[in-house]
Amino acid sequence: MRAIVTCECCGHRQAVARSITRPTSFHVVCHSCEGVLRVEVTAADLHAAEATTRAARPAARVR
Ligand SMILES: [Zn+2]
Repeated sequence: MRAIVTCECCGHRQAVARSITRPTSFHVVCHSCEGVLRVEVTAADLHAAEATTRAARPAARVR
C-alpha cells in the first residue's frame, strides 16, 4: 500500500515514497515544515487498503 501522511504541525499531506507490504512503523520528515512524523501501519490498515484497491478495480466478467 501507499500511505498518505498528514502532518500534525502544519496539516501538509504527503505520500510515503516506499511501498508498504507489512505492519511497520517509521519516521518521515514533513516537506512543508520539516517536522518529524511517526507513521504506524497496522495489519488492519493493510487489509483496509487491500480491500479498497480491490473494490476500485473493474469486476471481471463471467460468461
Ligand atoms: Zn508539517
